[in-house]
Amino acid sequence: MNFPPAFELRVKNDPFLGEELLQALNSIPPISVRLNPKKATPALDTLSEISWCKDAFYLQERPVFTLDPLFHAGCYYPQEAGSMVLHSILNQIELPDEPMVLDLCAAPGGKSTLISSFLQEKGVLVSNEVIQSRSRILKENMTKWGNSNSVVTNNDPKDFERLPDFFDLIVVDAPCSGEGMFRKDPDSRNEWSEENVNLCSARQKRILADVWDALKPGAFLVYSTCTFNEMENEENVQFAVKQLGAKVVTKELPYPIKKGRKGIGHYCLPGTTETEGFYVAVLQKEDGVPKKTKFDSKKDFQKIKSETLTDLGKFVNTENIDLFQWNGLIIGLPKTVSGSMQHLIAKMRIVKAGTVIGEMTRKGIVPHEELALSQTLCSFENRIELTQEQSLQYLHGDTFPLNGETGWQLITYRSQPLGWIKHLGNRFNNLYPKEWRIRMRI
Ligand code: SAM
Repeated sequence: MNFPPAFELRVKNDPFLGEELLQALNSIPPISVRLNPKKATPALDTLSEISWCKDAFYLQERPVFTLDPLFHAGCYYPQEAGSMVLHSILNQIELPDEPMVLDLCAAPGGKSTLISSFLQEKGVLVSNEVIQSRSRILKENMTKWGNSNSVVTNNDPKDFERLPDFFDLIVVDAPCSGEGMFRKDPDSRNEWSEENVNLCSARQKRILADVWDALKPGAFLVYSTCTFNEMENEENVQFAVKQLGAKVVTKELPYPIKKGRKGIGHYCLPGTTETEGFYVAVLQKEDGVPKKTKFDSKKDFQKIKSETLTDLGKFVNTENIDLFQWNGLIIGLPKTVSGSMQHLIAKMRIVKAGTVIGEMTRKGIVPHEELALSQTLCSFENRIELTQEQSLQYLHGDTFPLNGETGWQLITYRSQPLGWIKHLGNRFNNLYPKEWRIRMRI
């Protein structure tokens, strides 16, 4: 398939890239996944491990992920192997015990699920997406990944000015011209233009400048794109150095990941690494005395004593969480970071905060899917194990003959919770969220 002529010329004339890249961009892309260490291991045909990321594998071929119930249970995430370099970077960044981390351009959630596993429920991960429809997909993926310290927001980067000196780490996986995706998504070649490269570069600078104040003094910002040109990569890192006072920090990444132009950042280049295109650089804010944060909390956000809720212990393990009443729902926030999470809820446009446990009604608790998918919090024992075929029917939103006691039941596949049903004796109500249902014919 052809490339945009101006792109082809640029690559040929750029000694850093060269003609081999064009050949590689017309070859077959590798398929890779990253497993959720908290959930069941899927039965996928793996080829080999990915050396720069924990729990990550190349696959022999691309399966139909939609037809695997464990995919819907958040047991793994199909992710391009180059993006997984983030894991090696995180391993080399010094973070406090309970770090505040922001993934600023987070949808659909590839980097966020990686960061979430890396944090192991320590600190808070704020996954932000400015486009509302995409923030809903992000919420779905973070819910299925199932960690309790997750917040999803739908804010413009500029809104993070409301949180000065707040984050220990910010990841900016910037919207870019997408040259690195020309192999995996050949249609993206039609959207490329020199003008768009210029627009992307200017927007990336704006994003960096907008979010810089939210970084604590001495804290780190990981900047990445999936494109090859200097304007969106090294030049923007130099912009951060000159205009924002950032320092470039060089990390060691395994061969054959290549140092960037002038030694700034690193590249995964198709044909050189078994990946699509990816650029990453680490910046550090100069040291200084952080502004003190006075934690705000919302007036309509009320703490609940767990003893006041009968039946609660049947559903949720409350040992490590504080419970709150919010928008008519009971939500659980990890005790260690409950103050900072409340502060975030007061300041930002929230799509998801911690784990929704359920709704308190006169008839008792109506459990929520966020609880079902939380490996650490859900303690509900009445479970019905389904076959693969039944699981797909359940995920499709169907109802079918099923033995079981009446009342709430947690549906599982290979012991992994998928969601709730209300069993009525001879039939059941399928409570799998409508917006998550499988739409393809099964
Ligand atoms: N980090 C994601 C992952 O690993 O799955 C991929 C992020 S994608 C490269 C860039 C994201 O930035 C998109 O979701 C896009 O909607 C969002 N975006 C677009 N314009 C933006 C802007 N002006 N400020 C911040 N984010 C923006």
